[in-house]
Amino acid sequence: MSAEFTQRLMKARKGLTAFGLMAASLVLGLALAWNAGLFGGGSAAEAAETAAVREEAARRAEHLAFTEAYLDHTAREMRVGNGETLVGVLTRAGASRAEANAALASLNGVYDPRRIRPGQSVSLFFSDAQLTGVAFRSEPGASVTANRTTAGAFAAREVLMPLTFENAHISAEVETSLYSTALSLGATDREIAALASAFSYDVDFQRDVQTGDRFELVFERYYDDEGNTVRTGDLLFISLETRQGPRNFYAFLAPGDSQVDWYDSDGKSARRFLMRTPINGARLSSGFGMRRHPILGYSRMHRGTDFAAPIGTPILAAGDGTVVRAGPFGAFGNYIRIRHANGYETAYAHMSRFARGMRSGTRVRQGQVIGYVGNTGRSTGPHLHYEVLRRGQQINPINLRVANGRNLEGRALELFNIERMRIDTLRRARASETTEAALQGAAAAGSP
Ligand SMILES: [Zn+2]
Repeated sequence: MSAEFTQRLMKARKGLTAFGLMAASLVLGLALAWNAGLFGGGSAAEAAETAAVREEAARRAEHLAFTEAYLDHTAREMRVGNGETLVGVLTRAGASRAEANAALASLNGVYDPRRIRPGQSVSLFFSDAQLTGVAFRSEPGASVTANRTTAGAFAAREVLMPLTFENAHISAEVETSLYSTALSLGATDREIAALASAFSYDVDFQRDVQTGDRFELVFERYYDDEGNTVRTGDLLFISLETRQGPRNFYAFLAPGDSQVDWYDSDGKSARRFLMRTPINGARLSSGFGMRRHPILGYSRMHRGTDFAAPIGTPILAAGDGTVVRAGPFGAFGNYIRIRHANGYETAYAHMSRFARGMRSGTRVRQGQVIGYVGNTGRSTGPHLHYEVLRRGQQINPINLRVANGRNLEGRALELFNIERMRIDTLRRARASETTEAALQGAAAAGSP
């Protein structure tokens, strides 16, 4: 009951926004006509008199237009059905075929009607059963309106909504997956992928991240009047708290560097010699896929790590090195082995295909795509089988914590500390706002 009421309210609000746009375009038209009229007069006095009369007339016309817009027009909210075209929506709402075609033709050069999506809402305005306007969201932050002009034809334009900037601060528990939770709170693919990549060195995203773990993001965000994230700017801070404890990283562009990198609160780089999750971890979730090897189970024979992921998911080189083997390899299916420094090697099995140029002798950089998840060899489901070897012996990647990135020192560390304090202030400001709101809420609830 109340949900339905809220929905109606929201629809009414959307309708009003569209009306506001139509009214604004009417006012603009009148203002232009009025200015054009000013230059037609004779003497200054005559001109002033004419101006006064015209202003009065314009006011009356404006008032009439507004009254008409608000009183005589009926608004109709439609949702685009599956496989339905924009013309289909207009005629279903009661517009004639000719009107629908005229409105559609006016969109030419403003909006491609094939971009309309099922479920999208479209506002229509009618006066005396005649279609007078169409308005819909073309993308987050922009609306398209097609209004009937006084001449009777339709004129369309796209209006950009004013955007609001904020330093967004998300601090939440992982629900079904880190990815879906962060998306639902206003982050985009970009921030989540950056978080996963920064933590890929020492977090096993398939097993270490559980429901109830906490994460935090601070990033620049622009949002529209409906709260949709239109675009995001710099990502400033990321944090992940698992059973292994909390880890915080700050974004910082070190003097002389061309790229921003991640550092802990002591100015130590997040980078490690090898990755623990050599795949985009953001979309992996502990609930998805296997905890046991699909064929061998966790036996003494199996010291690798399996990441269940859809076929075609990119696989990354865990560290800088040279490919020593790339091709089919018995039960491992399509297989790549990379030699790194200090006697370390990594191996990747069951790939659907290799990235271009992968052959024995190819040099690869850490994070470079070397192939794609598959189901080749002795495997019962799409997954990446990943091994870390030291002098030919498999080792558990969890024991591998060799730092690789640099530690900030001297002037770089001083500059980093200033940036870290700025970011911590942003985090605290947000935290105290939330606390204040919670306290006020509690006080209001508790008051007699
Ligand atoms: Zn395996």
